[in-house]
Amino acid sequence: MAIDINTLDPARTIVVATGNAHKLSEIEAILSKSLSDVRFVALGELGDFDDPVEDGETFFDNALIKARAALDETGLALAVADDSGLVVDALDGAPGIFSARYAGEHGNDDANNDKLLHELADVAEPERSARFHSTVVLVERDEDGEGVLRGDGDCEGRIGFERRGDNGFGYDPLFLPDDTPGKTMAELTPDEKNSISHRFHALEDLRSKL
Ligand code: IMP
Repeated sequence: MAIDINTLDPARTIVVATGNAHKLSEIEAILSKSLSDVRFVALGELGDFDDPVEDGETFFDNALIKARAALDETGLALAVADDSGLVVDALDGAPGIFSARYAGEHGNDDANNDKLLHELADVAEPERSARFHSTVVLVERDEDGEGVLRGDGDCEGRIGFERRGDNGFGYDPLFLPDDTPGKTMAELTPDEKNSISHRFHALEDLRSKL
Protein backbone atom coordinates (compact mmCIF):
# COMPACT_ATOMS: atom_id res chain seq x y z
CA MET A 1 0.00 0.00 0.00
CA ALA A 2 1.60 3.30 -1.10
CA ILE A 3 -0.95 5.79 0.23
CA ASP A 4 -2.63 5.88 3.67
CA ILE A 5 -6.38 6.43 3.11
CA ASN A 6 -6.61 8.40 6.34
CA THR A 7 -4.36 11.12 4.90
CA LEU A 8 -6.79 11.80 2.02
CA ASP A 9 -9.49 14.49 1.95
CA PRO A 10 -12.66 12.61 0.87
CA ALA A 11 -14.10 15.76 -0.70
CA ARG A 12 -11.06 16.17 -2.95
CA THR A 13 -10.09 12.60 -3.75
CA ILE A 14 -11.33 10.44 -6.60
CA VAL A 15 -10.50 6.76 -6.34
CA VAL A 16 -10.05 5.24 -9.79
CA ALA A 17 -11.17 1.62 -9.84
CA THR A 18 -8.41 0.23 -12.02
CA GLY A 19 -5.18 -1.62 -11.52
CA ASN A 20 -3.93 -0.26 -14.84
CA ALA A 21 -1.51 2.69 -14.42
CA HIS A 22 -2.04 3.68 -18.04
CA LYS A 23 -5.80 4.00 -17.54
CA LEU A 24 -5.27 6.07 -14.38
CA SER A 25 -3.13 8.61 -16.24
CA GLU A 26 -5.57 8.72 -19.20
CA ILE A 27 -8.54 9.29 -16.87
CA GLU A 28 -6.67 11.88 -14.81
CA ALA A 29 -5.40 13.77 -17.88
CA ILE A 30 -8.91 14.23 -19.26
CA LEU A 31 -11.07 14.68 -16.15
CA SER A 32 -8.62 17.04 -14.40
CA LYS A 33 -9.32 19.56 -17.19
CA SER A 34 -12.70 20.06 -15.50
CA LEU A 35 -11.96 18.87 -11.96
CA SER A 36 -9.02 20.91 -10.77
CA ASP A 37 -8.09 20.69 -7.12
CA VAL A 38 -8.91 16.99 -7.00
CA ARG A 39 -6.44 14.18 -6.45
CA PHE A 40 -6.83 10.97 -8.50
CA VAL A 41 -5.59 7.80 -6.81
CA ALA A 42 -5.71 4.26 -8.13
CA LEU A 43 -7.53 1.76 -5.93
CA GLY A 44 -4.42 -0.42 -5.92
CA GLU A 45 -2.43 2.39 -4.27
CA LEU A 46 -4.75 2.26 -1.27
CA GLY A 47 -4.61 -1.42 -0.47
CA ASP A 48 -4.79 -4.95 -1.76
CA PHE A 49 -8.49 -5.38 -2.58
CA ASP A 50 -10.18 -8.31 -4.34
CA ASP A 51 -11.73 -7.53 -7.74
CA PRO A 52 -15.54 -7.48 -7.55
CA VAL A 53 -17.53 -10.02 -9.58
CA GLU A 54 -18.53 -8.27 -12.82
CA ASP A 55 -21.85 -9.98 -13.36
CA GLY A 56 -23.79 -7.07 -14.86
CA GLU A 57 -25.61 -7.29 -18.18
CA THR A 58 -24.22 -4.09 -19.67
CA PHE A 59 -20.97 -2.10 -19.73
CA PHE A 60 -22.73 0.44 -17.49
CA ASP A 61 -23.70 -2.23 -14.92
CA ASN A 62 -20.13 -3.47 -14.70
CA ALA A 63 -18.59 0.00 -14.47
CA LEU A 64 -21.02 0.76 -11.62
CA ILE A 65 -20.11 -2.50 -9.85
CA LYS A 66 -16.42 -1.53 -9.97
CA ALA A 67 -16.99 2.05 -8.78
CA ARG A 68 -19.27 0.99 -5.91
CA ALA A 69 -16.82 -1.69 -4.80
CA ALA A 70 -14.04 0.94 -4.69
CA LEU A 71 -16.21 3.15 -2.47
CA ASP A 72 -17.18 0.24 -0.20
CA GLU A 73 -13.57 -0.83 0.17
CA THR A 74 -12.07 2.62 0.83
CA GLY A 75 -14.89 4.52 2.52
CA LEU A 76 -14.15 7.43 0.17
CA ALA A 77 -16.92 9.53 -1.41
CA LEU A 78 -15.97 9.76 -5.11
CA ALA A 79 -15.03 6.97 -7.52
CA VAL A 80 -14.49 6.62 -11.26
CA ALA A 81 -14.59 3.29 -13.11
CA ASP A 82 -14.82 2.21 -16.71
CA ASP A 83 -15.86 -0.94 -18.52
CA SER A 84 -15.06 -1.54 -22.14
CA GLY A 85 -15.02 -4.13 -24.86
CA LEU A 86 -15.27 -5.00 -28.53
CA VAL A 87 -18.66 -5.13 -30.29
CA VAL A 88 -18.68 -6.99 -33.63
CA ASP A 89 -21.74 -6.53 -35.88
CA ALA A 90 -21.43 -9.88 -37.69
CA LEU A 91 -21.41 -11.62 -34.28
CA ASP A 92 -24.55 -9.85 -33.01
CA GLY A 93 -22.46 -7.67 -30.69
CA ALA A 94 -20.14 -10.38 -29.29
CA PRO A 95 -17.77 -10.48 -27.51
CA GLY A 96 -19.20 -7.31 -25.87
CA ILE A 97 -19.12 -7.40 -22.07
CA PHE A 98 -17.37 -10.79 -22.29
CA SER A 99 -14.41 -9.36 -24.26
CA ALA A 100 -11.77 -10.09 -21.61
CA ARG A 101 -12.76 -13.77 -21.39
CA TYR A 102 -14.11 -14.49 -24.89
CA ALA A 103 -12.03 -17.67 -25.27
CA GLY A 104 -12.58 -18.77 -21.66
CA GLU A 105 -9.59 -17.61 -19.63
CA HIS A 106 -9.79 -14.03 -18.32
CA GLY A 107 -7.28 -11.73 -20.01
CA ASN A 108 -5.82 -14.25 -22.49
CA ASP A 109 -5.50 -11.80 -25.41
CA ASP A 110 -3.88 -14.29 -27.75
CA ALA A 111 -6.62 -16.89 -27.33
CA ASN A 112 -9.31 -14.19 -27.62
CA ASN A 113 -7.87 -12.96 -30.93
CA ASP A 114 -7.62 -16.53 -32.25
CA LYS A 115 -11.27 -17.11 -31.38
CA LEU A 116 -12.33 -13.85 -33.04
CA LEU A 117 -10.50 -14.77 -36.27
CA HIS A 118 -12.08 -18.22 -36.16
CA GLU A 119 -15.61 -16.88 -35.65
CA LEU A 120 -15.15 -14.45 -38.55
CA ALA A 121 -13.43 -16.92 -40.89
CA ASP A 122 -16.34 -16.92 -43.34
CA VAL A 123 -17.20 -13.23 -43.01
CA ALA A 124 -16.14 -11.06 -45.95
CA GLU A 125 -14.54 -7.62 -45.56
CA PRO A 126 -17.72 -5.53 -46.05
CA GLU A 127 -19.40 -7.33 -43.14
CA ARG A 128 -16.48 -6.97 -40.69
CA SER A 129 -17.57 -3.70 -39.07
CA ALA A 130 -17.04 -3.37 -35.30
CA ARG A 131 -16.44 -0.86 -32.55
CA PHE A 132 -14.71 -0.59 -29.23
CA HIS A 133 -17.11 0.74 -26.61
CA SER A 134 -16.37 2.28 -23.23
CA THR A 135 -18.71 3.40 -20.47
CA VAL A 136 -17.20 5.50 -17.69
CA VAL A 137 -19.02 6.35 -14.46
CA LEU A 138 -18.37 8.87 -11.72
CA VAL A 139 -20.15 7.89 -8.50
CA GLU A 140 -20.53 10.29 -5.58
CA ARG A 141 -21.82 9.23 -2.16
CA ASP A 142 -22.99 11.43 0.66
CA GLU A 143 -25.39 11.15 3.58
CA ASP A 144 -28.36 11.58 1.19
CA GLY A 145 -27.39 8.68 -1.04
CA GLU A 146 -25.60 8.27 -4.33
CA GLY A 147 -25.26 10.28 -7.53
CA VAL A 148 -24.07 8.74 -10.79
CA LEU A 149 -22.80 10.45 -13.92
CA ARG A 150 -21.96 8.39 -16.99
CA GLY A 151 -20.08 8.91 -20.23
CA ASP A 152 -20.14 6.69 -23.31
CA GLY A 153 -17.74 6.49 -26.21
CA ASP A 154 -17.09 4.40 -29.30
CA CYS A 155 -14.21 3.89 -31.67
CA GLU A 156 -15.56 2.65 -35.00
CA GLY A 157 -13.57 0.31 -37.22
CA ARG A 158 -13.25 -3.10 -38.83
CA ILE A 159 -11.78 -6.47 -37.93
CA GLY A 160 -8.77 -7.44 -40.05
CA PHE A 161 -7.82 -10.88 -41.33
CA GLU A 162 -4.45 -11.08 -39.52
CA ARG A 163 -2.73 -9.52 -36.53
CA ARG A 164 -0.51 -6.49 -37.15
CA GLY A 165 1.45 -4.29 -34.73
CA ASP A 166 3.03 -4.64 -31.30
CA ASN A 167 1.53 -1.76 -29.32
CA GLY A 168 -1.54 -1.70 -27.11
CA PHE A 169 -3.29 -4.78 -25.76
CA GLY A 170 -6.39 -6.92 -26.19
CA TYR A 171 -7.86 -6.90 -29.68
CA ASP A 172 -5.70 -3.99 -30.91
CA PRO A 173 -3.69 -6.10 -33.44
CA LEU A 174 -6.93 -7.07 -35.27
CA PHE A 175 -8.79 -3.77 -35.05
CA LEU A 176 -8.54 -1.24 -37.92
CA PRO A 177 -9.96 2.11 -36.70
CA ASP A 178 -11.84 4.10 -39.37
CA ASP A 179 -9.86 7.15 -38.14
CA THR A 180 -6.48 5.63 -39.12
CA PRO A 181 -6.92 3.98 -42.54
CA GLY A 182 -4.59 1.04 -43.19
CA LYS A 183 -3.29 0.85 -39.62
CA THR A 184 -4.38 -1.44 -36.83
CA MET A 185 -4.80 -0.03 -33.33
CA ALA A 186 -1.61 -1.92 -32.38
CA GLU A 187 0.34 0.03 -35.04
CA LEU A 188 -0.55 3.40 -33.47
CA THR A 189 1.59 5.23 -30.92
CA PRO A 190 0.00 5.54 -27.46
CA ASP A 191 -0.74 9.22 -28.16
CA GLU A 192 -2.39 8.41 -31.50
CA LYS A 193 -4.52 5.72 -29.85
CA ASN A 194 -5.47 7.97 -26.93
CA SER A 195 -6.71 10.68 -29.30
CA ILE A 196 -9.24 8.39 -31.04
CA SER A 197 -10.00 5.70 -28.47
CA HIS A 198 -13.38 4.72 -27.05
CA ARG A 199 -12.11 5.64 -23.55
CA PHE A 200 -11.11 9.11 -24.77
CA HIS A 201 -14.61 9.68 -26.19
CA ALA A 202 -16.31 8.27 -23.07
CA LEU A 203 -14.22 10.47 -20.76
CA GLU A 204 -14.93 13.56 -22.87
CA ASP A 205 -18.65 12.68 -22.78
CA LEU A 206 -18.49 12.39 -18.99
CA ARG A 207 -16.52 15.64 -18.74
CA SER A 208 -19.20 17.47 -20.74
CA LYS A 209 -21.68 16.55 -17.97
CA LEU A 210 -19.58 17.72 -15.01
P1 IMP B 1 -11.67 -3.48 -19.61
O1 IMP B 1 -13.07 -3.19 -19.31
O2 IMP B 1 -10.92 -2.23 -19.95
O3 IMP B 1 -10.99 -4.34 -18.61
O4 IMP B 1 -11.63 -4.27 -20.99
C1 IMP B 1 -12.22 -5.55 -21.17
C2 IMP B 1 -11.63 -6.21 -22.39
O5 IMP B 1 -12.03 -5.50 -23.57
C3 IMP B 1 -10.11 -6.23 -22.45
O6 IMP B 1 -9.59 -7.35 -21.76
C4 IMP B 1 -9.85 -6.31 -23.94
O7 IMP B 1 -9.97 -7.62 -24.39
C5 IMP B 1 -10.98 -5.47 -24.52
N1 IMP B 1 -10.55 -4.07 -24.69
C6 IMP B 1 -10.99 -2.99 -23.99
N2 IMP B 1 -10.37 -1.87 -24.41
C7 IMP B 1 -9.51 -2.26 -25.38
C8 IMP B 1 -8.57 -1.55 -26.17
O8 IMP B 1 -8.36 -0.34 -26.07
N3 IMP B 1 -7.88 -2.29 -27.07
C9 IMP B 1 -8.04 -3.64 -27.19
N4 IMP B 1 -8.88 -4.34 -26.48
C10 IMP B 1 -9.63 -3.66 -25.56
